[in-house]
Amino acid sequence: MEISSPILLSLIAPCMNEAENVAAFQAEALREFSGVPFEIIFVDDGSQDDTLAQLHRLYEEKACPIQIVSFSRNFGKEAAMLAGMRVARGELLSIVDADLQQPLSVVKEMVRLLQKDSLCDCVAAYQERRDEGALQRGLKSTFYRVINRFSEVDFVANASDFRTFRRPVAEALLSMAETHRFSKGLFSWVGFPTQYIPYTARTREHGQTKWSLPKLFRYAWEGILSFSTIPIKMAIYLGLVCAAFSMGYLLVVLVQKLAFSIDVPGYATIVCLVLFLGGLQLFFLGILGEYIGRIYIQVKRRPPYIVREHLTSPEPLEKEGSPDAVEK
Ligand code: UDP
Ligand code: MG
Repeated sequence: MEISSPILLSLIAPCMNEAENVAAFQAEALREFSGVPFEIIFVDDGSQDDTLAQLHRLYEEKACPIQIVSFSRNFGKEAAMLAGMRVARGELLSIVDADLQQPLSVVKEMVRLLQKDSLCDCVAAYQERRDEGALQRGLKSTFYRVINRFSEVDFVANASDFRTFRRPVAEALLSMAETHRFSKGLFSWVGFPTQYIPYTARTREHGQTKWSLPKLFRYAWEGILSFSTIPIKMAIYLGLVCAAFSMGYLLVVLVQKLAFSIDVPGYATIVCLVLFLGGLQLFFLGILGEYIGRIYIQVKRRPPYIVREHLTSPEPLEKEGSPDAVEK
């Protein structure tokens, strides 16, 4: 493959409270990619522990080219991935968790596949086996069914952000200006020939997962709102159905009253209907609010994250005049 940049691979590792993991991550990268010109981009997403100090230590050690992008607070993994892609210098970019759950040998395999097949632009890994309960599995498969039914792009079940892709894919992702980012969908939306390979995630040795069930729900909701307007459209269909029923019922009541002089006692029915329709209206007002809230945030054009510090070590094969840049 033709390499125009001296760096072949940028490993983008979002870190939030991964103090015990970052050194081991670098060590694994050095083992797996000896002889390959690569850099590691650690994006410190507002860690509360010792992560940033550890990253500075690695940066001083200069064992391999490193960039550190440190946020002013926690902005979430999506923002961290975006920041990493913006500063990456490699021909290939790889997004990989800093917690060592995603083996770097898999990244090596992804790189090999990309180098072998010039028609493939992206290799994504999906988890073959997941240690999760029946409830979580059920919820996840429902999520994929719902989102694939209603959105314009395809979501591959269990494929995460763990993937390696060529620069044009990164450029396409960076050209999307949305503030609420949902990478699973963005990757599908930009297209590009993608190959999926299975992998088995390791168990977490240090630190804790940042996901809880409520957070997963919010994430799924975010995905549905970002890639579909079906929730609002549902209001139209349900409204039509309600209107049709009430017209029918009105006719029945009129006929009863006019033809048979039957008075229709309706207190309970009315209370139920008022409550039901009021609830339905509030529900859809809420959904509308979700979309409007997103428009509101987007028009304010707030940046998706704030960088407090950006350190860049020089590239491996220094070009003449390449700055030994330390931006602050
Ligand atoms: N992460 C992050 N910001 C967050 C949450 C997570 O940068 O707000 C990072 C985290 O440090 C890890 C990766 O994203 O490197 C995946 O997170 P985690 O291990 O909690 O997810 P899981 O593997 O449990 O799905
Ligand atoms: Mg993890």
